[in-house]
Amino acid sequence: MACDCMHIPHRYDDSLSTPLDLLPLPNGSWGGKIAYLDRDGVLNKGSENYINNPDELVILPGVPDSIAALRESGFRICVVTNQSPIGRGLWTSENLDSIHEKMRMLLLEENSNAHLDLILYSPYPPWYGAWARKPNPGMLEAGRQIITAAENNDEINLKFGPEWINRPDESSSVMVGDRGVDMDAAFNFGVRGLQCDPEKGLPDVISMILGD
Ligand SMILES: [Mg+2]
Repeated sequence: MACDCMHIPHRYDDSLSTPLDLLPLPNGSWGGKIAYLDRDGVLNKGSENYINNPDELVILPGVPDSIAALRESGFRICVVTNQSPIGRGLWTSENLDSIHEKMRMLLLEENSNAHLDLILYSPYPPWYGAWARKPNPGMLEAGRQIITAAENNDEINLKFGPEWINRPDESSSVMVGDRGVDMDAAFNFGVRGLQCDPEKGLPDVISMILGD
């Protein structure tokens, strides 16, 4: 495990290293692809003043079907979201969990295959320079290791930054975000980054990912 000074990611509904229960993919086994998805401006409508409670959450049109299409073509889904209001003392991780619980419910209500396999967040304010906070790649590093461990029934033994060697191939994976900071995180991790229009979100780039 990396030292605390790296400020590692947090995980919705569980501690970072708890084994992850994965639902089967709709069309069979996993070939290693992960779609790393930013949240605001990709899955839901963003706001300059943050999404502060479940009532403020609005899923962008077509997002549930896009997530389902990714899973149907073999992607595991890993949300990676900067959530500095926690570190700024505006609200708690429990509040964020309630927002994410509602997000999961709204997605599944519209498409039963729109399942988010893993939700990671960085609670740190920007001035920490946290490894977990995009543009740094800590959340993507954790997401890959947690999902791979779950698929292989291995223990989670997270490594970050230069401590993590022999990294798996990310050439069939993708990171989608609406901002430069997401594209920087993709670059720093070593995965293809696709920037979407924040008014359209994931459906804006889904055909570029699926190639149709
Ligand atoms: Mg965003």
